[in-house]
Amino acid sequence: MSDVPLAQPPLPGPIVVRDARPGISGLSPDRLQAWFQERGEPAYRVRQVEDAVWRSSASTMADVATLPAALRDALEGAVRFDTVGETELRFADGGNTEKALHRLSDGALVESVLMHYPAGVGRRERHTLCISSQAGCAVGCPFCATGELGFTRDLETAEIVDQVRHAARRLAADGRHLTNVVYMGMGEPLLNLDRVLESIEALNDPARLGLGARHITVSTSGVVPGMRRLTALGPQFTLAVSLHAARDALRDVLVPLNRRWPVAEVVAAAIDHAAATGRRVSYEVTLIDGVNDTDLDATAMAELLRGQRAHVNLIPMNPVAHTPWRASPMDRIETFAGLLRSAGVQTTIRRNRGQEIGAACGQLAAERAGEPPVAAVDRRRRLLIDASLAALRGERSDEPSPVGVGD
Ligand code: SAH
Ligand code: SF4
Repeated sequence: MSDVPLAQPPLPGPIVVRDARPGISGLSPDRLQAWFQERGEPAYRVRQVEDAVWRSSASTMADVATLPAALRDALEGAVRFDTVGETELRFADGGNTEKALHRLSDGALVESVLMHYPAGVGRRERHTLCISSQAGCAVGCPFCATGELGFTRDLETAEIVDQVRHAARRLAADGRHLTNVVYMGMGEPLLNLDRVLESIEALNDPARLGLGARHITVSTSGVVPGMRRLTALGPQFTLAVSLHAARDALRDVLVPLNRRWPVAEVVAAAIDHAAATGRRVSYEVTLIDGVNDTDLDATAMAELLRGQRAHVNLIPMNPVAHTPWRASPMDRIETFAGLLRSAGVQTTIRRNRGQEIGAACGQLAAERAGEPPVAAVDRRRRLLIDASLAALRGERSDEPSPVGVGD
């Protein structure tokens, strides 16, 4: 595969009316069972539908040859076989990163990213899909392209799950299968918690995708009540916390939700998750040159996480338009990692994938949103520089950090 984007026809213009029929992959087996029962259909129809949805190459209801034609028609009137309309693919990293831009029935655009990791010593090959849970995001982290877009809407259960079906079908065509799913695409999963929990159930259910709980990671910017509900679910889902800073003054700027749930509360909820599930919590730290990569910040983070079941992932910031910031240099990241490790905190430096195709989630959708006025971009950059300098001095401001351009 080449690094050059595939030649694709442009996506057609948005279809404005949202399709009211639910997606079939978002229905629980109980709801499907009830639907068939009402029509006097046998119970095994549920299994037939699950096989068609999860284990066949069918891409429309008409392809499902195992069901009688009349039943296919009735189903077609009640549900959608696929909630993802057009999908545009881009490839990077020598074919190891595939970014999909999906258009939903009302024209909303969401992104998913499939990453291939070849087998290594003592490790099998992995295929990890990063999925979106919302179109846009209300949290508004200023270094994030999705945050800059603002919030459009929550995704339905099937719209979350169908991103996975698309990737699973692409992999199956090459005789491969999905090994991991991470909720690290567009949106804050724990602010669309009911739909996200239903989607996790579908991915985890052996009769549907059957992906082990340990292979499903939910990432959050720190929605504490949602973290606690996820913990109460029981199974060993991995929780990833987007930490970015251990000091409240700085985290207020980088993750605006910190004003509602400050870092100590977020970490306390993560510690409880680790204790309840026996699983280490991952902490994601996007390192921004001169903003959150200082020794002061590394030491504060080391103190916060010392002695905890924690694993820190340090990620150089993906360059995103309309910020004044860039990635920390590698020697700074290594020093930061060293300070964490010397406090006994497990730390990995991750490389970001697919930069040339805008693989930081939200980047493609942001491109489609068009370029804002230069003056508004300049103003946003100035406000962010002022806010981060104040945070470096330890000043906690009441002013919310600027989110979209023009705020
Ligand atoms: N809203 C959730 C999940 C989606 S964001 C969350 O924030 O955790 C997934 C991850 O991508 C988060 O850790 C986020 O901080 C990170 N991210 C966003 N923009 C980035 C960028 N420009 N460079 C590197 N990481 C970024
Ligand atoms: Fe939303 Fe996550 Fe982006 Fe923050 S980093 S704006 S929470 S998607």
